[in-house]
Amino acid sequence: MNAIGAFVNAAHCPLRLKIEADALTANWRWLAGLGGPAACGAAIKADGYGLGAREVAMHLVLAGCRDFFVSTWSEAERVLPWLGEAALSVLHGVSDDELRTALALRARPVLNTPAQVQRWRAEGQGRPCDVMIDSGFNRLGLSPGHLAEGILEGLAIETLMSHLASADEDVEMNGRQREMLVGVAANVGARRVSLANSAGICLGRDYHFDLTRPGIALYGGIPRPEAENHLRQVVRIEAQIVQRRRVGRGDPIGYNATFVADRDMELAILNIGYADGYLRAFSGAGRAVLGDAYGPVVGRISMDLTTICVDAAPHLAEGDWVEMDFNLPAASAQSGLSQYELLTLLGSRYDRIWF
Ligand SMILES: *Cc1c(COP(=O)(O)O)cnc(C)c1O
Repeated sequence: MNAIGAFVNAAHCPLRLKIEADALTANWRWLAGLGGPAACGAAIKADGYGLGAREVAMHLVLAGCRDFFVSTWSEAERVLPWLGEAALSVLHGVSDDELRTALALRARPVLNTPAQVQRWRAEGQGRPCDVMIDSGFNRLGLSPGHLAEGILEGLAIETLMSHLASADEDVEMNGRQREMLVGVAANVGARRVSLANSAGICLGRDYHFDLTRPGIALYGGIPRPEAENHLRQVVRIEAQIVQRRRVGRGDPIGYNATFVADRDMELAILNIGYADGYLRAFSGAGRAVLGDAYGPVVGRISMDLTTICVDAAPHLAEGDWVEMDFNLPAASAQSGLSQYELLTLLGSRYDRIWF
């Protein structure tokens, strides 16, 4: 374990995430390569998509990443000390309540609304900012009407950006959003232009501009089929067995007896539940990895416990560690949760072990 791997709880924890730093940095390098001459940044909002923003940041800084993105100033405050010289942008911009914090920190707001623009112009001390253009997502960003009023004049704009609504699909909207950003960029003096998230990087060089902003793909999510054999799994879940038992035909298992054994079965009760982000959507659908075989989840997931069938590995005993199948596309198919939800739901009860 390296120095960055030292952040673990003091008490024994029966549940852990094994997070592979090499896989994270390999994924970043692959995305950086795909982006060609564009700089490759990293979205580390929501505590680094649940992995731990400061460890993610430290590893990616070492790999060469120089542009990071969080959503809020409280996230910025926590992660900035770990970024070295790298730049940090705060995607939600700056509200009145956040202005003091923003001016005290070395990060840029991404200005989204006319009020945010006025605020930064009046109070930002001439410091650089980023600007978000709404190119059809209708979420955050300035619309063409706002720009016609010339509200950006005089701002020190580092990055002019927009965000794709459906980059994971082949739809015309991607091209329309791209063209709109190109049009705006021609009339706005910004040092750099940025459009692509993870899926957007896979859309090809027309979408790369000067800076890309991958998130989910860094962490092992597969944003589009093109990425399938290039990105590595970063996070593995391991839970300890609290109890082993054997049930026979007709025995009910778990809350509300949603599963009734139709034969003799070997069971293991694991130290993981929906409070750990292993939601009830995995009931009867998730599985543990037992060597070459799988141990299906049987019955309903509880708050802190999950029951699996270990017929394929009857040697397993109380106290042994079991890996859940947390390959993100597979786990997404099992649960119906998005790859994003799977990661960001991971709770605070895990030891996050970097190796
Ligand atoms: C979260 C986010 C990203 C990263 O998106 P992924 O789909 O996770 O790659 C990029 N840009 C903006 C504006 C975001 O909010």
